[in-house]
Amino acid sequence: MSCLFCRIVSGQEPAEVVLERDEVVGFLDVRPVFPGHVLLVPRVHVDTLTELPDELLVPLFAAARETAAAVKDVLGAQGSFVAMNNTVSQSVPHLHVHVVPRTKGDGLRGFFWPRVRYAEGQAQDVAARLRAVL
Ligand code: AMP
Repeated sequence: MSCLFCRIVSGQEPAEVVLERDEVVGFLDVRPVFPGHVLLVPRVHVDTLTELPDELLVPLFAAARETAAAVKDVLGAQGSFVAMNNTVSQSVPHLHVHVVPRTKGDGLRGFFWPRVRYAEGQAQDVAARLRAVL
């Protein structure tokens, strides 16, 4: 089994597992942004969000909701950052949701999202193209 997160799910690779559900496993990120940074993965191998089967949408997002609540309730975080990389910047090609505990002043403000401005007419063009398929 070559996938690192499949090996964690099957117990072949050590991890600090914090959540186990029928379809989802959560474990601590080995190099956390902050302590309590959790990765949530479907037990079945799925590369990225676009391949996630319908029946796993609710279990995965429910686990994200539960974990986001837990880092507040148990670890004293004020909130959380919930995200995933898909292909680009995705270092492990098994879909994983990052749940990062956040607290005001933790230094993460604006950490990797420099913003750009739309050129004249560009927003309308982009929105129209997305609207056409969504
Ligand atoms: P990404 O870069 O979004 O694909 O996130 C992959 C994450 O997996 C990184 O935050 C890594 O720190 C984490 N990671 C890599 N190997 C392990 C491991 N053996 N156990 C737990 N987390 C890991």
